[in-house]
Amino acid sequence: MLKLIISPPARRTIFWYAEMKLYEFEGREIVASYGIPVPRGNVASSPEEAERIARELGVPVVLKAQVLVGGRGLAGGVKFADTPEQAKAVAAELLSKSVRGEKVDKILVVEKVCISKELYISLTVDRAARKPVYIVSEMGGVEIEDLARKHPEKIHRIYVDPMVGYTDYMARETLKVLNLPWSLLPEVAKLMSAMHRIMIDYDAELVEFNPLALTCDGRLVALDVKIIIDDNALFRHPDLQKLYGRDMTEYERRAKELGFSYVELDGDIGVICNGAGLTMATMDSILYYGGRPANFLDLGGGASSERVKEAAKLMLTHPRVKVLLVNIFGGITRCDEVAKGVVEAIKEVGISKPIVVRMLGTNEEEGRRILAEHGISAYSEMDEAVRRAVEIAKQVSSAT
Ligand code: GDP
Ligand code: MN
Repeated sequence: MLKLIISPPARRTIFWYAEMKLYEFEGREIVASYGIPVPRGNVASSPEEAERIARELGVPVVLKAQVLVGGRGLAGGVKFADTPEQAKAVAAELLSKSVRGEKVDKILVVEKVCISKELYISLTVDRAARKPVYIVSEMGGVEIEDLARKHPEKIHRIYVDPMVGYTDYMARETLKVLNLPWSLLPEVAKLMSAMHRIMIDYDAELVEFNPLALTCDGRLVALDVKIIIDDNALFRHPDLQKLYGRDMTEYERRAKELGFSYVELDGDIGVICNGAGLTMATMDSILYYGGRPANFLDLGGGASSERVKEAAKLMLTHPRVKVLLVNIFGGITRCDEVAKGVVEAIKEVGISKPIVVRMLGTNEEEGRRILAEHGISAYSEMDEAVRRAVEIAKQVSSAT
């Protein structure tokens, strides 16, 4: 999954980055190998296997759908079973459905832990502060984004000097924030230093335990583990490299196959540009005028009409794209090739979505002529084209 980081005050695109999520069962294996307590358990791919694991572990057990989306609990992806037979039935049910649109083909079966309190702890990177930061809260179990919105005062941050790393005062501070007894200090210290080592060793952007359970008998157990790896560092981790791409959307995968730089976002304006600089400027401009990009696709330099056609087809078939904005600065990229590609895409997919084109430069006149033949007028000012696309997106969304 790729994300766009938008700084709220200026609403400007700073940069985009890619991340690679690990499944819970993969994350907890890493965590356990660093000595952090996790519930005993195993992964099942069939109801029979789930039954056998439940029998071996002893009941009650928790059955957890292994998907990369969060909030499985609320979406019915985390279930309990009191007997091995029940575990089999629950596993059959989980394996037959999707959780938040993601198909379930593995289930983690773990011992049910008696919880006295659900806590939250994570280690992530604060990009603005240019430091790792532990995020700690007494209110675990809920999505941290929700907590940040509703109870920002319940979230405590402990910044880490990158030159120094974890030090023990951080554990003491965490203990206080979490209202834990002093007897747990060695546990908390071990946990937090292990989290830091995992971040460094795996180039993780996030190591999160939500919840970190305080058990009824007073121990700390990482009940749910989420690890996200920075995919720019994958060249250092050949074993993780082969996992890359499995959490891509269908469109990200298709674009990657076609060799385009493509980023999936959550708005409704599809964007095709040539060159990273122009693409980022276009993103900035859309946000500036109050629009929201659905994605962006960078054609690179010198795209043929065939490539433009493939790019435009991808955009026109994308369910979230309400309007397509094509912003081309013709240099080695020829405007007539772009125009031809756009027109051919419309013919092939037979879907009519509003298209706004801005083109300037090499073979601009010919490009305009081709588009005009098909009822598309092209702007030469980027500002005007962007404003028009934002306006159309607003009209379309208010009409539906
Ligand atoms: P998520 O919803 O995807 O974050 O899945 P979690 O693994 O965090 O589980 C969701 C919730 O299920 C937790 O917040 C707990 O309330 C509950 N839960 C999960 N495992 C156990 C367990 O072993 N014992 C108990 N009592 N509750 C659990
Ligand atoms: Mn969780």
